[in-house]
Amino acid sequence: MSETSADDRRLCPTRTSGAHSLIAHWITPATCLERQRRSYHKCFTCRYQGLSAEATLPPIPKPAPLPKRAPAAEKPAAPQVRKRAKVPKTA
Ligand code: SF4
Repeated sequence: MSETSADDRRLCPTRTSGAHSLIAHWITPATCLERQRRSYHKCFTCRYQGLSAEATLPPIPKPAPLPKRAPAAEKPAAPQVRKRAKVPKTA
């Protein structure tokens, strides 16, 4: 569901952050306005909140590209292991 509106329908809810909703469905603008009037609990984080029935949303801007990865750090030196001291055998 990458589209947020189609053929006079709205994806309910359409998150302001652009994140997908776990449960979403298509509704008409009239249903949307009625839900807003009744303080539907998902409206406060929706992009359609406060818009008229004819309103269309601008496309969600694509996120900025990720920066290039930094080169891998040098491999740390292996820890020095102390050798056991040899203890002379006693008779
Ligand atoms: S404003 Fe409310 S009813 Fe309209 S699409 Fe968003 S969540 Fe659904």
